[in-house]
Parts: sequence; structure tokens; C-alpha cells
Amino acid sequence: MSNPDFPILGTEPLAVELANTLYGSGNERIDFLRTARWIDEWFASVSTEHGVTAPAAMGRDAGRVRTLRDCVHSLLSAAVDGRTPDEASVERVNDFAASAPTHLRLDWTGAQGPVSRWRDTTTGSTAVLGRIATCCIELLAGPEAGRVRRCQGPGCSMFFVKSHPRRRWCHPSCGHRDRQARYYRRHLTAGAS
Ligand SMILES: [Zn+2]
Repeated sequence: MSNPDFPILGTEPLAVELANTLYGSGNERIDFLRTARWIDEWFASVSTEHGVTAPAAMGRDAGRVRTLRDCVHSLLSAAVDGRTPDEASVERVNDFAASAPTHLRLDWTGAQGPVSRWRDTTTGSTAVLGRIATCCIELLAGPEAGRVRRCQGPGCSMFFVKSHPRRRWCHPSCGHRDRQARYYRRHLTAGAS
């Protein structure tokens, strides 16, 4: 079985990338984290793109990975639809963040001067999932609040953070397909009349 072509944008906060593993809607929905091996592969790919260190066997924690993903997906969906999400999803994300507190650490050496770094107080999948949960909280309530969007490309359901005022698609290729679809719709309508 070859590796799936994961919907990783490489430009979005990790919480958004995780939510995008639930792709499409209704009968067309694809779960890109449906097996332990795919979870391992997804974290390996995202680690390369995002410079995070995830343990090699995240798939062993498949249940918690998918739970966090479903909750983050539900919160981002609520945000783009302008709804209040279900309380359980909010609490679950809070629980993941609380299981992996981080603290700022000061390093001060002669040549470099004072440098601060975030340090995890946990390790393994707990630390990684906690970081993603914290990322989700910061995204929804921080300076980028209100900028989460769902792609308007045909059949695309990817979330992204609107990084410039005219961005409407997750990726330029979705913009291209969207423009093509509009073009054909216009011409079909013109031909029918
Ligand atoms: Zn798209």
C-alpha cells in the first residue's frame, strides 16, 4: 500500500493541518488518519514541513490523535460558520492542552546573551498533542481570531488562515479549478439560453 497524498499545506498552523486530515463532507469524506500507519506517516510528513518533533509511533495513540483531530475540526468548523461549538469539544481541547503544560526557559551564555525557549513538561504523544491543542486555542482566541476560512474551491473543505485580504482558496490550484468551474458554468448557461 503506497502512502496517501496527505492534504498538508505546509503554510498553516499545526491545528489547521490536523483538522484538514478530515477531508471532504458527507459520503465523500476521507479520513487521512484512519490507520495507525497513516497516522505515523502523517506526523512524519508534518514534522518535516513544520519542524516539530513527534515520536515515531504516534499511531499507537490513534484514539487520542483522532479525538483531538475531531474536536479541533469541530471548533474550526464552528468558527468559520459563526456558531458556538458543542461544549464537549471545547473541554476536550482544554484537557489536551492542560495535560502538557509548557514553560519559558531562560538560557544565558556569554557569547549569545539571554535567549528564551518554550520547554515541554511532558514527552511523547502527550507533548505533541498538547502543543497542537494549545495552537488551536491561540488560533481561535489570539491575534488571528476571525481569520480562519474554509476553501471555496469545488469539492474542497480545507481550512486555512486568511493571510492576505483576497485569499479565498487553500492553495492556488484550488483557485484555478474554481475559476475554471465558473468559466464552464457561465458558458453552459450562455449556451442553454
Ligand atoms: Zn482548496
